[in-house]
Amino acid sequence: MMNKKTRIKKGISIVLAMGLATGLVGCSTGNSSTEKPVASNAPAATPEPKKLAGSLVSEKPLDLTVHMHYGDRFAFDNNWAVFKKAGELTNVNLKGTGQSSGSKSGEMFNLMIASNEVPDIVHGFRETMKTYGPQGALMDLTDLINKNAPNLKKFMDKDPDYARYAKAADGKMYFVPYVFDGSGVSKGWLIRKDWLTKLGLQVPKTYQEYYNVLKAFKEKDPNGNGKADEVPYFSRDTSGIYDLLVFFDATYGGDLTLQWAESGGKLTYGPTQPQFKTAITNIAKWYKEGLIDIEIFTRGAKARDVLLGENKGGSTHDFFPSTLNFNRSLATQVPGFEMAVIAPPQNVNGKHVEATWQQKFGNHGFGIGAKNKYPVESIKYLDFWFSEEGTRLANFGVEGQSYTKENGQIKMSPEVMKGTPLENMYKFGAQHEFGYVQSLDFTKLVSTPESITAVEDYSKNQYMKKPFPILNYTAEEKKKFDTLSVAINTYVREMVQKWIMGADDIEKSYDGFMKKLKDMGVDEFTEVQQSAYSRYMK
Ligand code: CA
Repeated sequence: MMNKKTRIKKGISIVLAMGLATGLVGCSTGNSSTEKPVASNAPAATPEPKKLAGSLVSEKPLDLTVHMHYGDRFAFDNNWAVFKKAGELTNVNLKGTGQSSGSKSGEMFNLMIASNEVPDIVHGFRETMKTYGPQGALMDLTDLINKNAPNLKKFMDKDPDYARYAKAADGKMYFVPYVFDGSGVSKGWLIRKDWLTKLGLQVPKTYQEYYNVLKAFKEKDPNGNGKADEVPYFSRDTSGIYDLLVFFDATYGGDLTLQWAESGGKLTYGPTQPQFKTAITNIAKWYKEGLIDIEIFTRGAKARDVLLGENKGGSTHDFFPSTLNFNRSLATQVPGFEMAVIAPPQNVNGKHVEATWQQKFGNHGFGIGAKNKYPVESIKYLDFWFSEEGTRLANFGVEGQSYTKENGQIKMSPEVMKGTPLENMYKFGAQHEFGYVQSLDFTKLVSTPESITAVEDYSKNQYMKKPFPILNYTAEEKKKFDTLSVAINTYVREMVQKWIMGADDIEKSYDGFMKKLKDMGVDEFTEVQQSAYSRYMK
């Protein structure tokens, strides 16, 4: 009745799994249309180590359950070609625990933790992993890596910042984050060039000119349908609102990844600066005038596809390669469509400033669940993704499917290059955000020449604000920082949303806001950040 081959079933309930002859692994509920159970008529022969020995991490096929849902839209798919291939190469197969139907990654993660059914492998957001790891949900990987993960160890020895970034406040490492090959320019400003031309407008050079252009987009019907349905400024992330702060020399500073205001070595929490009020007042005005997507706080990740696809979106602040790709993918659908990169419009101080930058390390990665019975195999599996073979697989997908090789050079398949390459890669399970080194070669292969030029221009002209360093906190600092940061940033974000959407008037509530920040401990929050920063700068 059982498979001849020894499928190792774990996770939810070994007893239950034994009772199901067909062996539906995990508790996959969503995605039933595309997800195949591991059926008893699967290839009967037990794969022997033979020529795959080099990358095998388990002698017998081993199934490990995985929780992976991130960015409010990506769920682990058992049919991803990349992970199936990794299964062939390592003998370890990840089986999703059925998160595909939801759209709130954070909530789903919390539910998973609360259920007390932490799977073998856990994919999660940086701060979440660093919070739940020390609470006992995840294993400390330090020793496991030292003993069993030569590729990862080699990488970590070369770049000590990686461990600094990955470690939780208790000094232990609970997840293996994603890595970017190369850092520097991340996002920039893009605008509908064809609309500028149509309305006889110049490329905006200052933020006031930018405002005027958005205004014209709203009022002069550049899409020509007779309706004021244009959405002049939009973003596929709520951070799109904060991206506008740069025009007013203001900064948010709410997250590790965003700038704190710095002057002469002294840090200030952005929202307490006077220019923050000015910025929000102005942005609220823009919003009221219909220049900012009315749904900017809720539209979500698909905003760019939807608004550009419907020929309504006018300008955004986003990654160059993927945004410029719409010039190719929408060429037929929206005749004349041309999204172009512009220099950051000059801010109130007359400076062109780009405040985002490409971090070296990504926000997400895999960890190992505390109840995992195969920690050694699991870490070896995570290590596979840092091997040459694993790196190629994670970046380019499976040869013959997403790419071919010509004269030893990788060439992405037409299927990948059609539309938005990165989106297409996701469907293969490639280019997702987990622990491996994302290759600049991939980015170059799928980027348009304009996007490569844009990145070079932004670098050459030194628009970039100096990246804020990744700081190390003592355990005590970290504890304070995390508690204060969650409370304070949540409050600020709530207020910003109210002010911008007009549910509250910043003129009336600003003093109360500042007082509340004091009461919530913003001074202590700043002190903690300052002490870590000063130590770093020494
Ligand atoms: Ca219109």
